[in-house]
Amino acid sequence: MNVHEYQAKQLFAQAGIPVPRGIPADTPEDAAKAFNELGAPMSVVKAQIHAGGRGKAGGVKLCRSADEAREAAAGMLGKPLVTHQTGPEGRIVRKVYVEAGSDIERELYVAIAVDRGSFAPVMMASAEGGMDIEELAEERPEAICRERIHPGHGLQGFQLRRLAKHLGWSGATAKAGTKVLAGLARVFNSLDCSLAEINPLIVTKGGDVIALDAKINFDSNALFRHKELLEFRDLNEEDPKEVEASKFDLNYIALDGTIGCMVNGAGLAMSTMDVIQLKGGSPANFLDVGGGANEEQVKNAFKIILSDPNVQGVLINIFGGIMKCDTIAEGVIAAAKDVELSVPLVVRLEGTNVEKGRALLEQSGVALETATSLDEAAEKIVKMTS
Ligand code: GDP
Ligand code: MN
Repeated sequence: MNVHEYQAKQLFAQAGIPVPRGIPADTPEDAAKAFNELGAPMSVVKAQIHAGGRGKAGGVKLCRSADEAREAAAGMLGKPLVTHQTGPEGRIVRKVYVEAGSDIERELYVAIAVDRGSFAPVMMASAEGGMDIEELAEERPEAICRERIHPGHGLQGFQLRRLAKHLGWSGATAKAGTKVLAGLARVFNSLDCSLAEINPLIVTKGGDVIALDAKINFDSNALFRHKELLEFRDLNEEDPKEVEASKFDLNYIALDGTIGCMVNGAGLAMSTMDVIQLKGGSPANFLDVGGGANEEQVKNAFKIILSDPNVQGVLINIFGGIMKCDTIAEGVIAAAKDVELSVPLVVRLEGTNVEKGRALLEQSGVALETATSLDEAAEKIVKMTS
């Protein structure tokens, strides 16, 4: 799960990481009010979307008056913001964050991510913040200092000193800075994050160390331990089809092809998508209905697939292992009748009671094609939709 910058900063502040004073605003008028309330000579209006690269895309505006803040907010709110992370359609800005401006001396980069190679979270730090870290990692990896965080012992003092040295900190700045690094490690660990990033972490002209940006991704599988975080979820930032699917325990990812797929098991779903591509088609989604899918789930999966206007045909590829093929066939038939299927449908069943299942499909009166192999099924649906 992702959260907005202003929410991540709330969590940072609770962990003792200094962040600028800020006020979220939903309207240009509220942004102007926020500017006055902050009372700073300069404030920054920042678009709140679940994507980075806002600075370069016009989603971060420095303002010197309430009028400027109002105007900056009006230029963002209700409009899509296109950054290099959003895709060409961009993301609609529904909220801005108005922050008291900071006097930047240096922009640094600090983040913690899970490093599968070393089986642990790793803190990364670079004296060259603000810019795209991916580019830096590629061109000059030595500019990034990496410290593996021991899962049991946490970030150690000598590691903090090494990071501080790499970032060029000394004296009071080193003291304040290492507190920020330790705080970030605490946030990451205590909230089961998969990513916690500060880019830029700034050193001000006065020597303070402040998180100017904040990005946190949470491990969704651990959210049951952090119910308080659920209120941070912003459904506007998620694909409505994916939100709907999660209600029914369906693993659904929207894609941009034309062939809807209903499959049980993630591995089978992946290979189904591959074979569709191999036959010249393109999948409209990844959908794993799970091992014990029932009629209700098949029905809901159908509805979600068909709510995508790009879908021109549906391929069902189900292996009846735990569930028997005749049960699945009954579910498919009932669902197809219920949703008044209007696009071609190819069904491939394999497994226990497969003969019974196929017979049921063929006698059902529902307009569908059956196939005995995945190869044949993919070929059929690609032909029927092109
Ligand atoms: P991102 O582009 O989505 O990562 O948004 P950031 O929050 O990182 O902001 C982008 C850039 O805007 C930063 O790297 C800063 O250079 C600039 N910026 C943000 N806030 C301030 C501020 O308070 N004062 C100044 N001078 N620049 C700021
Ligand atoms: Mn940033």
